[in-house]
Amino acid sequence: MSTLLIRNAEILVTMDDYRREIPGGGLFIRDGFIEYIGTAENLPSNADEILDLTGYIVLPGLINTHHHFYQTLTRVVPTAQNANLFNWLKALYPIWGRMTPGDIYISTQTALAELALSGCTTASDHLYIFPNGTRLDDEIQAASEIGVRLHASRGSMSLGESKGGLPPDHVVEDESFILKDSQRLIEQYHDTKPGAMIQIVLAPCSPFSVTSNLMHSSAVLAREYGVHLHTHLAETQDEELFCEVEFGLRPVALMDKLDWLGSDVWFAHSVYVNKGEIEHYAKTGCGVAHCPTSNMRLASGIAPTMEMMQAGVKVGLGVDGSASNDGSSLLEETRQAMLAARVRAGLMGASKSGGESFPIMTARQALEIATRGGAAVLGRHDLGSLETGKCGDIFAIKLNKLEYAGGLHDPVSALVFCAPVKADYTIVGGKIIVKDGELQTLDVHRLVERHNQASRRLVNGSN
Ligand SMILES: [Zn+2]
Repeated sequence: MSTLLIRNAEILVTMDDYRREIPGGGLFIRDGFIEYIGTAENLPSNADEILDLTGYIVLPGLINTHHHFYQTLTRVVPTAQNANLFNWLKALYPIWGRMTPGDIYISTQTALAELALSGCTTASDHLYIFPNGTRLDDEIQAASEIGVRLHASRGSMSLGESKGGLPPDHVVEDESFILKDSQRLIEQYHDTKPGAMIQIVLAPCSPFSVTSNLMHSSAVLAREYGVHLHTHLAETQDEELFCEVEFGLRPVALMDKLDWLGSDVWFAHSVYVNKGEIEHYAKTGCGVAHCPTSNMRLASGIAPTMEMMQAGVKVGLGVDGSASNDGSSLLEETRQAMLAARVRAGLMGASKSGGESFPIMTARQALEIATRGGAAVLGRHDLGSLETGKCGDIFAIKLNKLEYAGGLHDPVSALVFCAPVKADYTIVGGKIIVKDGELQTLDVHRLVERHNQASRRLVNGSN
């Protein structure tokens, strides 16, 4: 039994169904779950540990719904800096093909350290390339040491260049092995209990890197075990053309044919979806991982997030892999989501006064995507808001920062409108993993040294 009492927050943002924001709020966490929430008079006066957060804003932990941790090793690679998705992938596949189990381990720690320091308490990762004996287990082990909840996606690629796919043949895997390994991982790690630290997801990489057969077999296997399904979809116009030429279908219609539309599925990106496809997502319960920075970085486009939200589609936020964002700050991504939606609003007519105007995303809507939206996408009813019975996952930021000076009439919006800062506290299941802006579970300076060594070795070509 362990208890944590947080009290006196300047403002506590619950993200509950009434979107309550409680001045002077706090909460009491017992064994990882919230037992009480409210102002001082609603809270016990004692606990094993007490945090007085006078002058801080407290929010539900941010949730990352799409990432490729290993790509932290290949940020800003010169040959991939100015390319669109297909050319960027072709430049990076050979480098990724040199990774070892140690590289997966180090890059997981780096990505999760960065995420935790940006207020993230749950992250989904999509690992789809397994060269030189690497396994998803390498990532799971590294994550358990940091203390962030992990939805580890067993990704896959099976359609090499010689069969009409995009990746070179030496980085794809045998399909029967992929399915056997997926089953092993589910049986070994998948935890369905409230407060789970690890869940497994099945995630063939994309329509242009796996066969239809593997997509379908993965869906059958996932449903046999009740795990979620994830893939990249409708990210670029190149992908749309590939699907039309290869299958005579648009990406969403292809997934429909493969039995891949349902409340247990979420797609990364969905930039190129039309009105009918958005309605289809809403009807079937599919979720979307919106990755605005990556979509801008790779010149992919801007996803129709406001249209999706208005149609009732579950939308979460993803920083995407660190080779197409080059950063893993979820708070920054929240700001990007709001700004990208406004660029789109302008293109759709919001800059014209009079007449019917296109809706503009608010800071609170962006925060909603980053918290309860992400929880819905991942199928986690125990996460995403601060309420009795939910996990004690929070982050807190001190408000007297230079970045917020002059913006404290509305501290909740300041978090999104002003320049992104680091979290001062990040707490997962009542455990403090970031304290006073420092990660408590890992020596970041040593990690950066080892990470840079591994990155140099990979990019320079020695194994
Ligand atoms: Zn991705």
